[in-house]
Amino acid sequence: MPVAYLNGQWTRPEDTKISVFDRGFMFGDGVYEVMPVYKGHIFTLAQHIARLQRSMAEVRIQCSMTAQEWQALLEEAVSRSNEQDALIYLQVTRGIASERSHVYPVVAPTILVTVTASQFDEDAFKPISVTCKADFRWSRGDIKVVSLIANGMLKNEAMDEGFDDAILIRNGMVTEGTSSNVFAVKDSVLWTPPKSEYLLHGITRDQVIQMARGSGLEVREENIQEAFLKQADEVWLTASGLELLPVGKVDGKTVGNGEAGLIWHRIKSVFQAEILKVIEKID
Ligand code: PMP
Repeated sequence: MPVAYLNGQWTRPEDTKISVFDRGFMFGDGVYEVMPVYKGHIFTLAQHIARLQRSMAEVRIQCSMTAQEWQALLEEAVSRSNEQDALIYLQVTRGIASERSHVYPVVAPTILVTVTASQFDEDAFKPISVTCKADFRWSRGDIKVVSLIANGMLKNEAMDEGFDDAILIRNGMVTEGTSSNVFAVKDSVLWTPPKSEYLLHGITRDQVIQMARGSGLEVREENIQEAFLKQADEVWLTASGLELLPVGKVDGKTVGNGEAGLIWHRIKSVFQAEILKVIEKID
């Protein structure tokens, strides 16, 4: 059953209320994480906690929770929900301040956690069609902030034009998807843009790189030009809620034969094996 935690209270998500003065609501002044849960176990938990702490430090949200306390809270949330395959949403905002000011108030942060069931079926890995769009977002995409209006605009523009999603381009180079990182395969080499302030340092991205190298694939963390993307043999999007999603078309041009490619299948099976290993190690 979906469960929510708000500042010490456990409730149902639909019954959970925040103040209109919450800085997350008024200013988008907050950071967040989305974590996958497989068979009741949180995948890559330590990496998500570390990134949350980095995001909070970057925007100077002060929170006294230690990594161990985050872990305990998130594990309790999963166990209360009783969900096996789920997504955890964790949001920390600067807190509640009735004076509307750009100056950071000194207040306790708002901590929200929800756990909801995730659905990975066959359809979840059907190749999607994307378009390339100018990345007009701010230049701190490396901080996981709750203000996602630009990402939403880009995704919805792409959908209005008949695509499933957009891959974002800055100065002729791929940055990321609207809610994912981007990989391209060309001549059996796996490419992904290097970490920078323009894109989120995705945890699935790190996992995929590690798994690909571990399985003997050459991986280049180098800039991908838009023209290169359109010539690629395979294109994938990665995110905690997506795993590894194949792209079948970029701006109407079929990628490979339009189906998930050979290397996608290889890494996808390593990914599944890794999840099983994590589950078995803990159990
Ligand atoms: N980039 C953006 C803009 C995202 O929203 C996400 C998903 N949260 C990602 C990349 C992928 O990050 P992760 O693999 O850590 O979920």
